[in-house]
This record gives sequence, structure tokens and C-alpha cells, in this order.
Amino acid sequence: KEVIKTKGISRIYQMGDEVIKALKTIDISIQRGEYVAFMGPSGSGKSTLMNIIGCLDTPSEGQYWLSDQDVSDMTENELAAVRNKEIGFVFQSFNLLPRSTILDNVALPLVYAGVGKEERLERAQASLDAVGLGNRVSHKPNELSGGQRQRVAIARALVNRPSIILADEPTGALDTKTSYEIMAIFNELHQQGNTIIMVTHEEDIANYAHRVIRLRDGLVERDEINQNITKV
Ligand code: ADP
Ligand code: ADP
Repeated sequence: KEVIKTKGISRIYQMGDEVIKALKTIDISIQRGEYVAFMGPSGSGKSTLMNIIGCLDTPSEGQYWLSDQDVSDMTENELAAVRNKEIGFVFQSFNLLPRSTILDNVALPLVYAGVGKEERLERAQASLDAVGLGNRVSHKPNELSGGQRQRVAIARALVNRPSIILADEPTGALDTKTSYEIMAIFNELHQQGNTIIMVTHEEDIANYAHRVIRLRDGLVERDEINQNITKV
């Protein structure tokens, strides 16, 4: 079952007189339950494509279906609703609220989804249990290590039971050992049937994914099954 499909999408940025074609024609299909890494040099279009896949931006041309909905021409409000329902974001920089407890951080997407308080706290607790931080719920982010903060961010990404987990350089701010711990969690989420899409610069991180899509100059240069998946 297809969760993501793009047909001929492009993204053009206009900067004064200059026109930058950040994405040319991208055709991608991702099935539910896949674990995909996007790679490519700086400027190849990874962020632009991730912003479109994550419904933070729309293509200039072409069509994009997310869970069978055509999101290419949606308004800002419609996109925000799809984003809240369908996508769990994990960022390089964690993006946690510093003054809130980790329980409240994880529960936040459920506030936007209109879930009642009791259920919010229950689901946030379950999500933190799943990443091994169930005993830290009342801590603030700055009382945790970088790896623990990223696990909080993963718990937050999961709490809405999204169709896809979109991770932008999830290990970019972490040391090697902690990065592998995060990859171990991704592996487990993948085994549980989650769809994971991550952007990374690092070959050894991309090697945890089951499929690697390489971008260059706004085009898919290679799209292949990973034959040497790193086991954890
Ligand atoms: P990557 O994430 O692979 O580094 P990007 O998607 O950030 O690549 O950028 C692709 C191309 O689009 C680059 O040439 C970049 O300079 C350009 N670009 C990205 N964002 C913008 C923007 N907001 N305005 C103008 N040009 C942009
Ligand atoms: P970096 O990986 O360089 O630290 P981020 O991952 O924080 O950068 O941000 C990547 C993109 O996601 C940016 O275009 C930003 O506008 C967007 N973004 C950042 N935080 C959020 C958020 N909480 N919800 C939705 N979009 C976000």
C-alpha cells in the first residue's frame, strides 16, 4: 500500500531576477512500512523535498499524494491539518520546548489534534515508555542528554500515530555511540511497521535504512534497495 507518491514534482524559487530550480522532476513512490534514507550533497534539494513531503511546502508543478490525498494544491490550513494527522517530525536540533516537562512536550501534538487532557497524558506516557524514558516524565529537556532529548522528540513524533516519521538529520547533533542508539530505536519502530523517511549526510547512518534514494541537482540520481543493511 502506497503512502507517498509524487508525479513530476518540481520546486522553483524566485530570487529577484534569478530563478532557482531546486527540484526538477521528482517521481517517488514509498510503500507503507518502508524505511528510506535520502542522501545527496549540499544543495541537491533534500530539504526542499522533505519540506514538500512533510507538507510544510507545496510543489511548483506536479502532484503529491500522501495517504491517497492529493496535497499538491492544498491551502495552508488544510496542509496544517494533514501534517498534524499524518506526519511525525524528528529534527536534528530536537525542537523541544525548554520550559515544559518532557511529558508536556510529547503531549503537545495531541493538543493540536483536540485530544482530551487525560488521554493526552496517557498516550504521552506510553510514547515515552516506548523510547525508554517513562521514568523521566517530569524532567525538563535541559536535564537530559542529547540522546535522551532526541528520544523525547521521537516519542513526540509517535504520539499521534502518524502515517510517516520524517527525520531530518536525526543524528546530526549526536556523537557516534548515541547516534547508534537512535538508529536502534528507528530499527525497532520499523519492525513495528512504521514508515520511516530520514535525511542524512552520513553513509553509515543511511546504511541502517532498507532503501537509499540519492539526489543530485534536484533529480533522483539513484534509488536502490540497500544490500548491506547495518544490523543493530
Ligand atoms: P539540500 O537540503 O540538499 O542542501 P536544499 O533543498 O536546501 O538542498 O536546496 C536546493 C537548492 O535550492 C539550492 O540551490 C538552494 O540554494 C536553493 N534554495 C533552497 N531554499 C531556498 C529558498 N528559500 N530560496 C531560494 N533558494 C533556495
Ligand atoms: P536543522 O535540521 O538544520 O536543525 P530543523 O530540522 O530544525 O533544522 O528544521 C528543518 C525544517 O523544518 C525548516 O524548514 C523548519 O522551518 C521546519 N520546522 C522546524 N521545526 C518545525 C516544527 N516544530 N514543526 C514544523 N516544521 C518545523
